[in-house]
Amino acid sequence: MNPLAVLLYHTINDDPPSWVAPFSVSTRTFLGQLDAVVDSGRPIVTASQVVASRRGGPALPPDAVALTFDDGFRDFAHTVAPALAARSLPAALFVTTGALHPHRRSVLGDAPMLSMDDVVCLDQEGIEICSHAHVHEQLDTLPSQRITQELLIPKTILEEALGHAVSLYAYPYGYSSLEVRNQTRHTGYLGAFAVRNAFSPEDDDPYRIARLMVCRDTSPETFASWLSGTGAPTASAHEQPQTMLWRQYRRSRARLHAVRR
Ligand SMILES: [Zn+2]
Repeated sequence: MNPLAVLLYHTINDDPPSWVAPFSVSTRTFLGQLDAVVDSGRPIVTASQVVASRRGGPALPPDAVALTFDDGFRDFAHTVAPALAARSLPAALFVTTGALHPHRRSVLGDAPMLSMDDVVCLDQEGIEICSHAHVHEQLDTLPSQRITQELLIPKTILEEALGHAVSLYAYPYGYSSLEVRNQTRHTGYLGAFAVRNAFSPEDDDPYRIARLMVCRDTSPETFASWLSGTGAPTASAHEQPQTMLWRQYRRSRARLHAVRR
């Protein structure tokens, strides 16, 4: 049995703004990757199914794959959603509410973004709409009150617009800490996705589910190896010492920048 592969995309764009170009995938490559997923015969599960399984709910079918998209770039509506619909594939879209067109309050760079009307339509078409912060800051470097805002604001905005609960979250840049994860749970989220560039083990933390980021530099060989259950480690259910050290460094840097401002 292959480990669960939760794929993470950002923008599917043949002419992306330079700041996001390394995290973009061309339309042709993306369509080829979707066909490869279908051809692999691996079942595609929803983000909700992934979270439920990591919370001790129903186990996923063997060899499952999940598709997730972060930030809310405009191309999701005109390129991604039609391609998913043509193949009957489910996917989750993690929206940074402060980046939605035309009200920009996020720290993401300039790029064509979805509007809330687009998000409502996508929800009605069956895309799983989830939260991805409001300002898109590194949550684990923020004071407690700001963490709360980054969790609560997008949930409130999306739930009001969609008229139903929004229960899944993805951490900006994938970063979380124990406090962030506890707050995520207390805010009412059932689970949250990180990055970690790894397969998600069956005993993965439901508030830190591992994903594999598909980027411009992801080779066809690497993508194919992920589909055959190799080419990446399986994440550990517990935080590694280097993750904690890297967080300490980013926190001191954030404090330094705050003083300089
Ligand atoms: Zn993001």
